[in-house]
Amino acid sequence: MNNYKPTDPIKSPRFSGIKTFMRLPHLKTTEGVDFVIIGVPSDAGASFRTGQREGPAAIRKVSALLRGHNPILNISPFDHVSGIDYGDLPVVPGYIEDTYKRIEEELSLIVDTDVIPILLGGDHAVTLPELRAIKKKHGPVALVHFDAHSDTIDDYFGKPYNHGTPFKRAVEENLLLVDNSIQVGLRGSIYSEDHLKIPKDLGFEVITADEIRKIGLVELVKRIKNRVGDAKVFFTFDIDFVDPAYAPGTGTPEVGGFTSGEALNLIRELKDLNYVGFDIVEVLPSFDPAEITALLAANIVYEFISIIAHKKSKEISE
Ligand code: MN
Ligand code: MN
Repeated sequence: MNNYKPTDPIKSPRFSGIKTFMRLPHLKTTEGVDFVIIGVPSDAGASFRTGQREGPAAIRKVSALLRGHNPILNISPFDHVSGIDYGDLPVVPGYIEDTYKRIEEELSLIVDTDVIPILLGGDHAVTLPELRAIKKKHGPVALVHFDAHSDTIDDYFGKPYNHGTPFKRAVEENLLLVDNSIQVGLRGSIYSEDHLKIPKDLGFEVITADEIRKIGLVELVKRIKNRVGDAKVFFTFDIDFVDPAYAPGTGTPEVGGFTSGEALNLIRELKDLNYVGFDIVEVLPSFDPAEITALLAANIVYEFISIIAHKKSKEISE
């Protein structure tokens, strides 16, 4: 097996070199690879601020800080998994339907080979073509969706594709096992009272930020695990799940969110789900002082890599 791993930071300083994610090799191969980092630099679906197209580059740059051992999961991920940075998927600025087509086509070729994709957005509209590609390989999957927003509006400005609509479309297109899917962390003002009902009417379980405060994080983890069960899962993490005090660099921030520590802990607690893909979306570097948000996104990706490694190490020892 090839073992693609980051450049050793003890031998080569972390500020040096071309900025791939964690200084992984930049290769367009899936041979000998367990996971691929893939940028999706599109903000064609953003409804308010734009600039999420710069997200992948910002996350990659600051990811050089990450080190090779995860002490909380007690795992050195690259002892167990081989990973590369594939680069970015093709997008067409300003043309979301063409962007969708190109994302789906190229991502389909990658996921067809059994590797696990970890995608760096981009605004949240990119998750729809990702799920289309995932469905071709795996069939409909459960969605674990961390977000301040439900993203299930029917249309924006009379148009179907936008970062407020992907999960409405995903249900309509039968991309999801809705009965196993869950939206977590919703909060903030909404357009009207009936918008509360949309995701529930579509079949999602919804746990708002306010409910999470009441039930606590331990109970939240239980509810997510119960909902998902053994189903194949796509984990989509909108960085605005986290409070803007910790993640200011995003397009539609909502106050009253979670801390970066809480977010990382939740991901670790969900390490035993049957993941087939991950994305982290809505990082907007031009609103991100001191790279706070990009740094959090890079650490979230590191937890994703760690749980892929955790799962693989368990499979081998079983
Ligand atoms: Mn979102
Ligand atoms: Mn959001």
